[in-house]
This record gives sequence, structure tokens and C-alpha cells, in this order.
Amino acid sequence: MKYYVENILLADGWATDKTITINNGIISAITAGKDDNVQVMSGTVIPGMINCHSHAFQRAFAGFSEQGSEGQDSFWTWRKIMYKFLAKLTHDDAQVIAEQLYIEMLKMGYTRVAEFHYLHHNIDGKSYEELDEETQLSTMAQAIFSAANNTGIGLTILPVLYQFAGFGEQKPNQGQKRFINSTQQFNQLVSDCFELSKSYTNTNVGIAPHSLRAVNKQGILQAVAHVRALDSTAPIHIHIAEQQQEVDDCLSFYKKRPIQWLLDNIELDKHWCLIHATHIDEKEQQGIVNSQAIAGICPTTEANLGDGIFPTVEFLTLNGTIAIGSDSHISVSPIEELRWLEYAQRLTKKQRALLANNNAPSVGQNLWQQAALGGAQSTSSNTGYLAVGKQADLLVLNKQQTDLYANNLQHLLDSVVFASRENAIQDVMVNGQWVIQNGKHTLEKNSADNFSALLAKLSA
Ligand SMILES: [Zn+2]
Repeated sequence: MKYYVENILLADGWATDKTITINNGIISAITAGKDDNVQVMSGTVIPGMINCHSHAFQRAFAGFSEQGSEGQDSFWTWRKIMYKFLAKLTHDDAQVIAEQLYIEMLKMGYTRVAEFHYLHHNIDGKSYEELDEETQLSTMAQAIFSAANNTGIGLTILPVLYQFAGFGEQKPNQGQKRFINSTQQFNQLVSDCFELSKSYTNTNVGIAPHSLRAVNKQGILQAVAHVRALDSTAPIHIHIAEQQQEVDDCLSFYKKRPIQWLLDNIELDKHWCLIHATHIDEKEQQGIVNSQAIAGICPTTEANLGDGIFPTVEFLTLNGTIAIGSDSHISVSPIEELRWLEYAQRLTKKQRALLANNNAPSVGQNLWQQAALGGAQSTSSNTGYLAVGKQADLLVLNKQQTDLYANNLQHLLDSVVFASRENAIQDVMVNGQWVIQNGKHTLEKNSADNFSALLAKLSA
């Protein structure tokens, strides 16, 4: 298939007047001028964004915990609401929520999602293996694969190893019964996901030890050894240093800060993604950069939960790699994540245009490109920028809208990130297939009906 584009953001910057050839989802040629028999992409084209951190089921109660309680509300009260909600959520419900969420992500410009998947068991806490033959065929992981396949988003599924309620191998509480696996059970689940992944295009598998409070060193090492034997490039994600309380608990149990403990005890590499890493000191920043691991920042969730602010300016100055995630889905817009990534730095440093440099002076463009590259690395996927040999995951911006606030390409992504009034994303292609056209997904009406009916049921 051949497409003509007037303006396109390639790895080394803006290019104009190009014909893009796509074969089997991969860009096979980029040539000058307009070939015969081409389809025209009607607006400026940029690479799709990768969402490095999602818990799909949390979309169903986004916005449900915004009622104040005398300044005492925190991450931990939000977590209580989550546990209550989980008591009712079935396998079919999980798929309905994920489909709605993934359609919303595609419409906002995410073309791939890393699903940090920890809702493993049935409502009563029984594993699907313990249930009858019929149910066994449809695990929670299957619901996620199906949702990604039906909606067309690229998927990196990261089954989560979750074993304890807190540091020192504390016994899990009732609210956590759907998350818990022995290491053996978990490794089987990971192998099952590798098998499932073969049946679905544009998917891959990694793992996610939940956090240092929910797994011990032995669990992490055994899970890493298992997944690395299946795929030496499998992504490995972990929640780390999100909350000050977690840092304090880790200090009192391990006598080290969480990131320092991880650096000293586990061999990190470029396939590791440290989610949040909010409470990080200078030595830990340098340690992550030396290991080539990624910082997976979730600015709107971190703001919503009152976590704190990742020192992005300092980390990028050290040549650190970042990716962005929507985590709790209080927002599913990469534009909003990037805007708040920069704004949090401005508000704390009382300066402007911080996440840019001499080589990349446009904040919007620099953030978009760095987050897409880091996101591709965090998912071990052939995505992140547009070039020959890369997967055709791309966004076409609405020309009428971009004409309203951007009169040259150098400022275009600044305007999109900081000044757009409406969603500027008109068409979305994933793996060479159109999944959003003229702002619409073919399943969106059906999905919205199912989702609103589900919310009514869960809220009853
Ligand atoms: Zn998370």
C-alpha cells in the first residue's frame, strides 16, 4: 500500500512531500514526491505514542475517588476504593472495560499499550485452573488479548507477580486475593501468555514483579530467569518508589531506599522499566542511567494520587530514557501526560521550556519523540519512530485544527501539546491498518453502550 504525505515527522526531523510504502504492517520505503496510485494522508503525520503503563480495569472507576475528606485523602484511600470495586468485577466485565479503554487510547494517539496485568483470579480468588473446564479457556489474560485484538491496539502484556501485602513477606489481605500467585503458578501463566501471543498479531509478553513490597528477591530472580529463558528481550516492569511511605518502609526493612536496593540486588538492563521512580535521589538517577533502564513516568496519575514529582529535568540531563503511561486512566491522553510532565517541572523550578535542549529546542516535539522512543524500548517493540523497517504505527493530525494554531512545522507539536483545544488526532494506523478514521472507531458505539451498562451494574 502506498500513501502520500505532505509533512511527516521522521527520526531525524520533519520531511515534506513523501510517498510511504507499507507492506505487511512495516514501512518498506520512503521516497521523494508523489507516486501514482497513492492514497493521500490528509494531514501532518507523526509516530504513534506508546503507553508504557496501564491497569485496564482501573478505567472503570477513574473519577470515583475525587470526594474530599478533610485533606486526608491519599493513594491508600484510593486503593481501598479499588479493592471494593474488584469484589464485583467478572472476566467478561474486564474485557468490556479494556475494549472501551483501548478505543479511547487509540483515539487519543496511543498505538501500543503495556498492560501491567495483575487481576488474575476469579471473584472468589480461585485461579482459573481450579475452576471448571469451560472457564479455564478464558483467563483474565485472555480477556486482555481479546480486547486488544478487537480494538486493534498493539499489546505488550506484562503478567504481574504479586505475593505479599508489604515488606517482610506480610500475608496478603482479602482485597488482594485475586492478584496472588506462587512463583510456579506465575511462571506457568507467563508461559501460557507466550502461547496465547502466538495467536494474536502485534502482541508480545514480558513480566512485572509488582513492587518491592509485594515480591521478595527470590521471587523476582526466579520470574526473571523464567521469562528470559523464553525471550531474552522480554520487557520487565516494576512499580518503584511511588510513595514516600514505600520509601520509609523499604528503609526500615532493607535499610536501603527502593531504587538503591533494586540497583544493588538485581541486574537491570535496557529492557527494565521502573514505573514512577518518583522518590529518587541523585545517586539513584545515575544508577538507572548507567543500567540503561527506563523511567516510566505517569504524570496525571502521579498528580491525581499526590505521589510527588519525578525530577525529569535532572534525569534527562544525565541522558536518562523516559516513557509515559496512563496508569489509573484518570487521563488517557498522551498530550495531557506530556503537558503535565513539563508543567510540573515549571511549577517547581519557576522557569519555562525546561524539557528541551540546544539539539531539540521544541519542548513538544522533544517530549513526543523521546517518550515514543522510550515507550518502544519499554515494550521491546519495533515502534517509536517512523523509518524504513519500522512498524507503521502513525497518527494523522487534523489539518483544519492544526492550521488554527501552528503556522510552521518547528512549532507544530508545541502547539498540539500545549495549546490544542480539541483532539487533533484524525486518523490512526496501527501495524499498517487504519483503526481510527475521521476520529471514529468502528466499535465505539457498541463499546460505549456495553461500558455504560457495566458501570451502572458495578455502581448499583
Ligand atoms: Zn501502576
